[in-house]
Amino acid sequence: MLFEELNLIAPLLAAVKKQGYAVPTPIQEKAIPPALSGRDVLGCAQTGTGKTAAFALPILQRLHTTGSNNGKRPIRALVITPTRELASQVAESFHVYGANTTLRQTVVYGGVGQDPQVRALARGMDILVATPGRLLDLWEQGHVNLRSVEFLVLDEADRMLDMGFIPDIRRIVALIPRQRQTFFFSATLTSDIIRLSGNFLHNPVEISVAPPATTIDQIEQTVYIVEKADKLPLLSHFLEKKEITRALVFIKTKHGADKVVRQLSRSFIPAKAIHSNKSQRDRERALDSFKKGETRVLVATDIAARGLDIDDVSHVVNFDLPNEVKNYVHRIGRTGRAGAAGTAITFCSPEEWALLSDIESLIHRRITIAQEHPFRSTRTHWIEKPDEKKHNSANAPLPGVTYKRKRGSGRLIPTRWV
Ligand code: AMP
Repeated sequence: MLFEELNLIAPLLAAVKKQGYAVPTPIQEKAIPPALSGRDVLGCAQTGTGKTAAFALPILQRLHTTGSNNGKRPIRALVITPTRELASQVAESFHVYGANTTLRQTVVYGGVGQDPQVRALARGMDILVATPGRLLDLWEQGHVNLRSVEFLVLDEADRMLDMGFIPDIRRIVALIPRQRQTFFFSATLTSDIIRLSGNFLHNPVEISVAPPATTIDQIEQTVYIVEKADKLPLLSHFLEKKEITRALVFIKTKHGADKVVRQLSRSFIPAKAIHSNKSQRDRERALDSFKKGETRVLVATDIAARGLDIDDVSHVVNFDLPNEVKNYVHRIGRTGRAGAAGTAITFCSPEEWALLSDIESLIHRRITIAQEHPFRSTRTHWIEKPDEKKHNSANAPLPGVTYKRKRGSGRLIPTRWV
């Protein structure tokens, strides 16, 4: 399907073309037509699927073709996101897609001074993108009026649920007219989420796109067995390669992230870190310079990377294995977006071996182990002693893994390949 077949107006089509999008992504193809006809949308889609345009384009179109922009603008569309980074990105998307319209957007989030946001609100805008806490703060002080909202988007609702934002969301939604069009997006549709969505949506079209499996399959994944102390030299070794144009390095701790940045800088590899101890301004600056290609390496903790949308990451490097297995999928999903191939490199020390097996169980796939590299660990005895508890017969055997049956208990134990 082509964008031209979606009944989008010329100013929006031109903006999309300018972004270089050839065809709509599946979520766009499925969500835009019903959204343009005014239906509520319940969308199951992760970041990276093109979901932002799936709600931003129809909202921009409906705002552009109805109402007037004269006088002080009331807020006609409200987008709520769980994190400030996602809020900035969504606002930026509205700006880009709406470049050929006269519609205006503003973003408000916590963690920074409110004065510039208050001034922006006073100037008026058509679209407001906000995180829940700051929005309520500003509302309580009388800076925001939500009585003219016609379009509501709840983005990454599952994460808002995880982060305890639902009471805030309920309060905000109570301030908005019932007569409105609502978009509810979530990466997962658990029964909790479906029940929750029922409070906000009216007869929605349900749209699911399933990127995790396909996205992961497009990513080339390799594990490097390396001692903890050799991880930094190994990273520097990688970063000498020209094909690593933009690397997002994940690391467990803030302290570790700063240390890696310092060490890389000593080797004349410009890198920046984002984590929750950095000020909002520092984080934005780091992200900006990474996006512009001035900084080739961005070192991030899992929390700081939540909801970040960074294009064209050539390599994701897992400097540490994530403690939470599902974060592996989130991390490597940052490369290989919207159909482009990506590469994920994982540094695994002997101590992290059990975590690696957990990841392989989750993704139902064996990750290739690099046989040759200059910092390969020589400690291999641990490889023959996998964590037995984690590999009992209750776990489905992985394709390609050789198992042996333990004498006595009869449990299946994977024998490791290296
Ligand atoms: P999102 O899921 O909205 O965070 O979008 C993920 C990335 O896909 C963003 O960098 C968008 O610029 C990009 N994108 C969105 N729609 C398309 C499209 N139709 N074709 C190519 N890239 C797209």
